[in-house]
Amino acid sequence: RPVMGNLIGEGHANYVLMYNMLTGIRTAVSRTQAKIKRPLTDADFTAKHKYSYDIIGNELTPSAKYDFKFKDYAPFVFRELREDHFQLDPADYLLSLTAKYILSELGSPGKSGSFFYFSRDYRFIIKTIRHSEHKFLLSILKKYHAHVKANPHSLLSRFYGLHRVKLPHGRKIHFVIMNNLFPAHKDVHETYDLKGSTVGRLYPEERAEQNPRAVLKDLNWINRGKSLELGPEKRALLTEQLRRDSEFLKEIQVMDYSLLIGIHNMRRGNRDKIRRNTLKVFSPDVPAFRRRKPTSVQGSSPEAVAVRRAMRESDLKHLGNGSIQLPEEDTGDRQHFIFYQDEGGLQATDEQNEPMDTVYYLGVIDILTPYTTVKKLEHFWKGMSADRHKISPVPPGEYAERFFSFMKAVMRGGEGGARFKAE
Ligand code: ATP
Ligand code: CA
Ligand code: CA
Repeated sequence: RPVMGNLIGEGHANYVLMYNMLTGIRTAVSRTQAKIKRPLTDADFTAKHKYSYDIIGNELTPSAKYDFKFKDYAPFVFRELREDHFQLDPADYLLSLTAKYILSELGSPGKSGSFFYFSRDYRFIIKTIRHSEHKFLLSILKKYHAHVKANPHSLLSRFYGLHRVKLPHGRKIHFVIMNNLFPAHKDVHETYDLKGSTVGRLYPEERAEQNPRAVLKDLNWINRGKSLELGPEKRALLTEQLRRDSEFLKEIQVMDYSLLIGIHNMRRGNRDKIRRNTLKVFSPDVPAFRRRKPTSVQGSSPEAVAVRRAMRESDLKHLGNGSIQLPEEDTGDRQHFIFYQDEGGLQATDEQNEPMDTVYYLGVIDILTPYTTVKKLEHFWKGMSADRHKISPVPPGEYAERFFSFMKAVMRGGEGGARFKAE
């Protein structure tokens, strides 16, 4: 099923950034991968590896089209997360992110100004983040690692890498690589971003009808009378995991996160190709890019060998101009996880725990916003005009409790549904 996108060449504002990000990931990840695995130490959580790129190249960095610097943060920690906890195949990871440098841009869907890019196979998302979010992730990395280790089925965003690109004029761009909750092989017919707050949480219904890709909010969910159709077994499992995850989010003092829910209706199937067909595709298949192929790295160290192999492999995959071939079935890591193992998601069940024809794709996203002074101010101003407890910026403890009770209410038969409706 080829999916066409808009080809974005070198003229595009973010082309250089995208090229630099992927070139950096390619060398940094293959270099880490080539090292012998060992138990993590404290120092691994604060480690930073620096790379410097130019058009000539050296022993460890291949020549690049542009001058830039790249930093890889806590590479061993993220490698362990990827391989031991998130069950990613190292070769797949590298290939998805670097093959022929094809990436597509979702643009900047949130208010924050972050940019989102999909890997070529749609499995991974690169999100540019603020410096404050970057510092925050590093500061909680140990706790995050421990939580994921203790909770293999956590619904929290899966962070696979944390990096920084520095451009010659000094601009620094921080970004994370994380899981795309939505699978490449299924249309998502409805999307909700739920916070458990009702103030201002409405996407205009008249616009929603025209836009099947709209991200709907709490009040749309309530007004449409939606619920997650889950029988007692799945309901209990999901409730318990959400309880643990929100407990963790309270402990690290964050707020503003949401439960993202994608709904696939199996009877409707894939005929609409919603969302996936509108990706803008970055591609090097423009003449200027082909002009000079980056030369190979020199040397016989294991790192250099690994980098060369990665470069060869990623060159093998030839993809047509601006078209990406999305897989027909779910592949890879998802079958290891209870909430992602039915067609890459969680299939609805009835009260007898028998399957129904809906698949949910769910996860807790945007978890890097600590309750800072900015939010405290926002809380103050918004609190003057609306009920202080229903607005979205409330302190982390209150946020987590409200989030968890809303998510319980979101499930069929969950207690409290009526209460949220009544408000
Ligand atoms: P804001 O802070 O204004 O909420 P943001 O830039 O931090 O925005 P997010 O809240 O992380 O952005 O995400 C915005 C939207 O992007 C989500 O509502 C969702 O539609 C999509 N999105 C984010 N993360 C994922 C993911 N892991 N998988 C699939 N879609 C995602
Ligand atoms: Ca958000
Ligand atoms: Ca955010």
